[in-house]
Amino acid sequence: MTDFLPYGRQSVADEDLDAVAAVLRGDWLTTGPAVTRFEADLAGHTGGTPTVAVTSGTAALHVAYAAAGVGAGDEVVTSPLTFVATAATAALHGATVVFADVEPDTGNLDPAAARTAVTDRTRVLAAVDYAGHPAELDALREVADTAGSLLLEDAAHSIGSRWHERPVGSLADLTTFSFFATKNLTTAEGGAVASPSPELLDRARAFRNHGLVRDRDRQRHPDEGPWHQEVHEFGLNYRLPDVLCALGSSQLGRLAAFRRRRAEIHARYDAALADVPGVLTPARRDGADPMWHLYALRVLDGRRRALFEHLRAQGIGVQVNYIPAYWHPVFADLGYRRGLCPNAEAFYAQQLSLPLFADLTDSDVDRVIDAVRGFFGE
Ligand SMILES: *Cc1c(COP(=O)(O)O)cnc(C)c1O
Repeated sequence: MTDFLPYGRQSVADEDLDAVAAVLRGDWLTTGPAVTRFEADLAGHTGGTPTVAVTSGTAALHVAYAAAGVGAGDEVVTSPLTFVATAATAALHGATVVFADVEPDTGNLDPAAARTAVTDRTRVLAAVDYAGHPAELDALREVADTAGSLLLEDAAHSIGSRWHERPVGSLADLTTFSFFATKNLTTAEGGAVASPSPELLDRARAFRNHGLVRDRDRQRHPDEGPWHQEVHEFGLNYRLPDVLCALGSSQLGRLAAFRRRRAEIHARYDAALADVPGVLTPARRDGADPMWHLYALRVLDGRRRALFEHLRAQGIGVQVNYIPAYWHPVFADLGYRRGLCPNAEAFYAQQLSLPLFADLTDSDVDRVIDAVRGFFGE
């Protein structure tokens, strides 16, 4: 009996442990210098775009929509082929979520569908870099600008990816990252928002910290006393602690190695599965230089579930990413109907994520490949 192979897994090295232990022995467990340092280190991977660290990718989305001023009466246009948080956090601000269909090859938001979906009420156009492959950011930028909306990039999958030589994090008005354990780098739970706009960053920082205003020049009652801080808009506590920021900085030092290893594994799957008639290997567009988060295989002829069960029975932890967001009962109950985005539904029906993470060995990969080929009698 061989070990169970998960579809994603963290890579934690001694240097990561040392970084965390150093913070635990120090003065600041949270709101300290490791946070500032992690935010600066992250900016080294976003083309210099400043960042705000938060407690999860979901928090990053909630914060980004808050910074964008999303509220009741606004629309947020996004892809249904994503984790539900991309849409749920907009809905929690009271916005109406408008799902636009994806491109059949990459699974990323289709600019033509987005163009049709935007209205003068669209506050944010939210793309998702599915599997780590950047969305069509230039075409989507045009759509957002024409609609007078902000462009958000859910980059939970794509830190370290580049689009026409430009790093993810430097492309949108607001970029959100997730550092969950299975993502490209991890702080256990964690996330961040990047933005080139000082106003959006200020609003993001405020929402992360209860909306507290400490700057006396901006306070309504600055003479209250030296202890005084006041709230002008509601916020939450989404502060990522120093303990986890230290892990994040340490992991960022390993990001280039993660990127290389993920690319090798992705290429190994491609080479071994491209000639299997029952599957489609992942597409890659000109100009896309992905840091691959998922290996998103497409299984043809209605055999996705059978292959899923076949692999799981052999201890291979495949996953399906994602059920179209509006299929969740919470959206169905709001009146969203199946059939809304046919490309996303067709993509979902075929999709199967094979194990992909930095510490996966070549022999693990070959075991997965043999199991997939074996299923098809190859
Ligand atoms: C993981 C993920 C999120 C949420 O991130 P968490 O850190 O798990 O809260 C949001 N969007 C996408 C596309 C994701 O994959």
